[in-house]
Amino acid sequence: MTTSVPVGITPKSLRAMEPDKLVVQTMPTSGPLVDRYGRVHNDLRISVTDRCNLRCVYCMPEEGMTFMERDELLRFDEILRFAAVAKGLGVDAVRLTGGEPLVRKGLVSLVQGLSDLGFEDISLTTNGTELARHAGKLAAAGLRRVNISCDSLIPGRFAAIRRRATLDVVLNAMDAAEQAGLLPLKINVVLLRGQNDDEILSFAQFARETGRTVRFIEFMPLDAQGDWDRAQLVPGREVHDVISARWELEPIERSASPAPAERFRFVDGAGEIGLISSVTEPFCGTCNRLRLTSDGAIRNCLFSDSETTVRDLLRSGGSDDAIAHSLRSAVWGKFPGHGINEPGFLSPQRSMSMIGG
Ligand code: SAM
Ligand code: SF4
Repeated sequence: MTTSVPVGITPKSLRAMEPDKLVVQTMPTSGPLVDRYGRVHNDLRISVTDRCNLRCVYCMPEEGMTFMERDELLRFDEILRFAAVAKGLGVDAVRLTGGEPLVRKGLVSLVQGLSDLGFEDISLTTNGTELARHAGKLAAAGLRRVNISCDSLIPGRFAAIRRRATLDVVLNAMDAAEQAGLLPLKINVVLLRGQNDDEILSFAQFARETGRTVRFIEFMPLDAQGDWDRAQLVPGREVHDVISARWELEPIERSASPAPAERFRFVDGAGEIGLISSVTEPFCGTCNRLRLTSDGAIRNCLFSDSETTVRDLLRSGGSDDAIAHSLRSAVWGKFPGHGINEPGFLSPQRSMSMIGG
């Protein structure tokens, strides 16, 4: 029986690891949540709803989206029970997402519940439309950080990409988040060829002027309408080249904790940018994430269709040990990589908003 991560497996050595190299032979029954490739999972993304008040072009169709029934969604007490078990297995970071997490009523109480469980690193990814009025309460309940999505700094274009939201509301949300101390504030930008890829320098300037971290995310094959096209993707490398032709960039050493973004600072002043090159430069070798969907399925990868449902366990009096076993098995079954660039790759059946981005 393996009880811990093999000696010598650190985030740094994992990065250099060939992803198909098996390093743990038997599923551990204690110790951290480790998979066959030695990746330790301590970062849990909890989707609280698949619903959203927006219809971003790269995420959902404008009309015709169907959503889960209310009773399919985990209740907050069920989410907290799951989170408590995960915490006992070494999970120490929780991010709330969706859909749009702030369209779920009472989110503040969920944050408070997570905080009461002892989680210190609680964060939120949001479209920002509902954030301004909740930021203070969320921070008081224990939320630490927030990522706000914003794909254009041009009002008309912002509205065309995000549909049903306006840029001014989201810029206000950024101010409110900062006033509430939800720092560092990160801005997520999905670049689409021919739509907003001429704003790379504007966003870099925005990062320099505001001190907010701007993270450029590659378009992934996770849109609900199945229209993903590699030609629409703007590679992180290109973003780097465009910005560094204007301002000198310096890489920021990755911290011990694995993170998807390759980070850079501006040599001549404030500001930081991040490149999340999920498609062109996958970071699967250091992936430490697992996800709980809003209907109670554990997903070990955004791009895998394999899921382990825990809702029935949670609703039928399943023990903590049984939930822990489900978690361990889900992590153990993780593939070495997402396979987007392999021949025959198929987009997963559930899209980003259904899984939790
Ligand atoms: N609704 C919230 C928001 O928009 O921030 C949280 C959920 S959203 C699914 C999380 C992140 O995924 C957002 O930054 C969004 O821009 C990004 N996203 C959605 N669909 C994507 C796709 N197909 N490729 C890349 N990023 C995507
Ligand atoms: Fe909603 Fe976020 Fe998807 Fe946009 S990216 S449609 S805000 S879930």
